[in-house]
Amino acid sequence: MKWLGRRQSDNVEDRRGLSGGKVAAGGGIIGIIILLLNVFGGETGQTVGNALEQMQGGQQSTEAAAPLSKEDKEMGDFVRTILAYNEDTWSKIFAENGMTYEKPKLVLFRGSVQTACGGASSASGPFYCPGDRKVYMDLDFFEELKTKFGAKGGDFAIAYVISHEIGHHIQTLLGTSEKMREEQQGKSEAEANKLSVALELQADFYAGVWAHDNQQYLEAGDIEEALSAANAVGDDAIQSKMQGHVVPDSFTHGTSEQRMYWFKKGFSTGDIKQGTTFEEIR
Ligand SMILES: [Zn+2]
Repeated sequence: MKWLGRRQSDNVEDRRGLSGGKVAAGGGIIGIIILLLNVFGGETGQTVGNALEQMQGGQQSTEAAAPLSKEDKEMGDFVRTILAYNEDTWSKIFAENGMTYEKPKLVLFRGSVQTACGGASSASGPFYCPGDRKVYMDLDFFEELKTKFGAKGGDFAIAYVISHEIGHHIQTLLGTSEKMREEQQGKSEAEANKLSVALELQADFYAGVWAHDNQQYLEAGDIEEALSAANAVGDDAIQSKMQGHVVPDSFTHGTSEQRMYWFKKGFSTGDIKQGTTFEEIR
């Protein structure tokens, strides 16, 4: 994907140098700064308890954080650009439909992270927390994707993952996620899972709509990379380790075929009204 020299979003919180070990390395002062940021930073859903937990968790760690490498920084710039592309696309589409798009934050972390949905580790894989309306991604997962898909071709796989998570933000803004959770009440596990699959496939569809709107930045092979990633980020690859609050990505995501079908449908139509996964996947 073409991204160098494009606008980068201000909505990325890069905590990669802060997570876990860095707090320990800096002692209590950095811990307190993190606490203050969390309490007064205006983040919805972040409680004092969470912030304290994060601070204490960090201080218990004896591992020193590695400084960000050149590659880490470049990856951060890439993520900021993809998030900016998403902001532009969704601001436009929401405006076209008489709505205002509220831009979510994207948190880059390493090791572990506290969220309004509970604590998460790198093993959680990328996820969206509706409680604080933030996307969380760990660098290790990015590296894994790069290794799996090849450094160059892997770029769009990451863009797809980010856009899928933004898709969950869209569903939160539109009330789809809440409606689905209400519908799940009292249903059997199998029925509840079907609804989860519909939600996941719709997020894939929204990622496709995003790709449709950003065709001018696509390079040869990008869509294939997204489709490969749609396989890779399925149930087997991502086991959510979230505590407490249920996160959509801890559910089943649908088959590879279904995921590719809905991404492609979003990409070919570019029409948000055609993401009818709840009507079709029952
Ligand atoms: Zn998902």
